[in-house]
Amino acid sequence: MSEIAAGLAAIRSRIAAAEAAAQRASGSVALVAVAKTHPTEAVVAALAAGQRLFGENRVQEARAKYPELKERHPDLRLHLIGPLQTNKVREAIALFDVIETLDRPKLARVLADEIDRAGRRPDILIQVNIGREQQKAGVDPDQADTLIALCRDEYRLEPCGLMCIPPAGEDPTPHFLRLAELAARNGLPVRSMGMSEDFPVAVACGATHVRVGSAIFGYRG
Ligand SMILES: *Cc1c(COP(=O)(O)O)cnc(C)c1O
Repeated sequence: MSEIAAGLAAIRSRIAAAEAAAQRASGSVALVAVAKTHPTEAVVAALAAGQRLFGENRVQEARAKYPELKERHPDLRLHLIGPLQTNKVREAIALFDVIETLDRPKLARVLADEIDRAGRRPDILIQVNIGREQQKAGVDPDQADTLIALCRDEYRLEPCGLMCIPPAGEDPTPHFLRLAELAARNGLPVRSMGMSEDFPVAVACGATHVRVGSAIFGYRG
């Protein structure tokens, strides 16, 4: 078994254990394998091990790695988990199945226009800056309801959930719980939260998707 296959198997069994511990249904948490900075061969190895959901944080890197793989594996689903500039929206919509990082009104408008033009409709998540960190992307938690309403009412975008990256070096629990609460009160079913260091906590707090990179693919150079 390749190291990547072994890494995936270990993460899958830890997700299953976390689901069981939280008395959640088996299979209720989806694993997004974050392959950023790792070569196409790493993605191929993960595909061979049955993995189908992948995350990338850069449009350009994804364009270099995935088009051919998507042809070979029509069930491969690609998530954009990094910041999206408006001038990359056209390419992002052509390439990604889920855009997890909608965080401002202008981006909502450009996404809506391009979705209409292209006739392709990726799933959309709103990124929330759950720890209100200056340097981090995401809508302020107090503005999230307003942005969600704007997406629905003004731009005909129907977001399906929320995504966050809690502050490093803090207990992520209150942040995950707050994201779950924000999602619930807006009727949003998807909660993308938890990474290599904290995904079991995220599962306990109601994550539906965890985004795990280094624990599968190894450290990024
Ligand atoms: C890199 C990244 C991850 C994966 O992080 P690991 O700590 O390597 O698991 C998850 N989410 C986002 C938004 C990322 O940029």
